[in-house]
Amino acid sequence: MEKVDYILRADHLLTMEDGLPVISDGAVAVHGADIRAVGTFDTISEQYSSENILGGKDTVLMPGLINTHTHAAMVYFRGLADDMPLQDWLEKHIWPVEMKWLTAEFVDDAIELACVEMLKSGVTTYADQYFYQDIAASKLVQIGMRGVLGSGVIDFPWKDVAQSPEDYFIKAEALIKEWKGSELVTPCVAPHATYTCSPKNYMRAKELADSHDVPLHTHLAETQFEVAECKKRFGKSPVEHLHDIGFLSERVSAAHCVWLTDKEIEILSEKKVGVAHCIESNLKLASGIAPVPKLLNAGVNVAFGTDGAASNNDLSILGEMATAAKIHKAASLDATVLDSKTALLMATKNGAGLFGLENKIGSIKVGKKADLVLADLNKPHLVPLYDVYSHITYSMRPSDIHTVMVNGKVVVDNGRLTTIDENEVLAKAKIWSNKIKAT
Ligand SMILES: [Zn+2]
Repeated sequence: MEKVDYILRADHLLTMEDGLPVISDGAVAVHGADIRAVGTFDTISEQYSSENILGGKDTVLMPGLINTHTHAAMVYFRGLADDMPLQDWLEKHIWPVEMKWLTAEFVDDAIELACVEMLKSGVTTYADQYFYQDIAASKLVQIGMRGVLGSGVIDFPWKDVAQSPEDYFIKAEALIKEWKGSELVTPCVAPHATYTCSPKNYMRAKELADSHDVPLHTHLAETQFEVAECKKRFGKSPVEHLHDIGFLSERVSAAHCVWLTDKEIEILSEKKVGVAHCIESNLKLASGIAPVPKLLNAGVNVAFGTDGAASNNDLSILGEMATAAKIHKAASLDATVLDSKTALLMATKNGAGLFGLENKIGSIKVGKKADLVLADLNKPHLVPLYDVYSHITYSMRPSDIHTVMVNGKVVVDNGRLTTIDENEVLAKAKIWSNKIKAT
């Protein structure tokens, strides 16, 4: 018998590996940060023993969910400005409060709230586009969450972050040098969007990412306004523009991709660009509905993102799955599109693929990192149970998740964070919001 740190057991074990098998009375042996063995509880307990057996009856065990696009620190602007179009929301409300309030200290505190919310809803990895990512990186290590941290690049100066475009690249390179190879943090270069970033800065971001072999992340084709602006400035729509300047590659993941021509869908497929689909943010800002069934049919890797909590207004990937699985059926008048298995694949394996992390996370496989989620199925809204994939996509709520492991460490136990005092995190958020409200 080999002793391991943990054995996780569940009535339904979803590995998200090929064929999407459901292992009944399944178990996963975890030692250190790694998944050591996967199988039925009987076979695992023949070879492995542990003092820590988690899960059990009426539970489902699945890979940690991946939020492929957010601005975590914006969680402090949740509900600050609702019910208005994106450009008004951004230019008249969000940018002014960011200009006034956003500091290293703000990010340090706000990230805590975002991580607590995400971990409690089963999100073990998030990808971010923002500033002060060095602070976010240290916070992630402290809390024990995985992140792909995109250092923002725009053309204009921004507070104490950057006085010139050069400064953004200095910051981005410093982040890469400090964090590349870290267990939990994947540094990333994140030029903001075609309306805030020149071709020169897009290509400089690409060169930096290529030279250090790190991912690139950007906003792309989010609104009709963006498409019109891009056509005015560059004579073509955003995907064609980034393709023509030579920016697109397998290294790139793009958030939104709402307004695409058939030709642009082909370009994304051909260049192997991943898409972070942010349906709830796109709906709330009335940006439109991305052609996800068409993208999936074209072989594009599509995953889910919440976008910032200021335009969602939460950070739940379970919420994105339910909304997307339903809206695309109605939008295409076809109830077979985006079925529940596809939704969970997008939330796990596809998400890992967006950032080149498919060998590390995204499914439950021997040798991958132990990013695992156990949810309680003994709830009024989860019985009876005929199809566990259906329940996860259409019925499950974040509060059903009781145990979350990241990199082999239990970070949520019985629904509570183990690495940070949740009450203090909420208290800090209220103090900040009172200050923001008073201005
Ligand atoms: Zn965004």
